[in-house]
This record gives sequence, C-alpha cells and structure tokens, in this order.
Amino acid sequence: MESKFLRVGCPRCKQKQVVFGKASSKIKCVKCNYLLMKTSGGKGKMRAFIKEILWN
Ligand SMILES: [Zn+2]
Repeated sequence: MESKFLRVGCPRCKQKQVVFGKASSKIKCVKCNYLLMKTSGGKGKMRAFIKEILWN
C-alpha cells in the first residue's frame, strides 16, 4: 500500500475516485464528504472499498 494509487469506492454514495495509497492528510469523498481515509501515526487508514490498485 505504498506509493500506489488506489481506485476506491465510497461506501456511502458509491462514488468512485482515485486516491494516493500513502496519503498524508484526510481524504474525503468528493460527492458526499464521507471520510475515506485518515492518517494515524504516518500510516493511512483506509475506510473505503478498494476497487483496484493502480501501480505507478
Ligand atoms: Zn461518498
């Protein structure tokens, strides 16, 4: 889960979006503002469904 882009689906509104796997900040759903990922101790905690991993 490092240095990878993930295509995730929001569990609330099913909106799909691409997020960076090792984010340093909170990522919210662009549509409904649901918190998709939050960081704790430098590690991202994913709360959304991962649809696919996009290797860079
Ligand atoms: Zn959403």
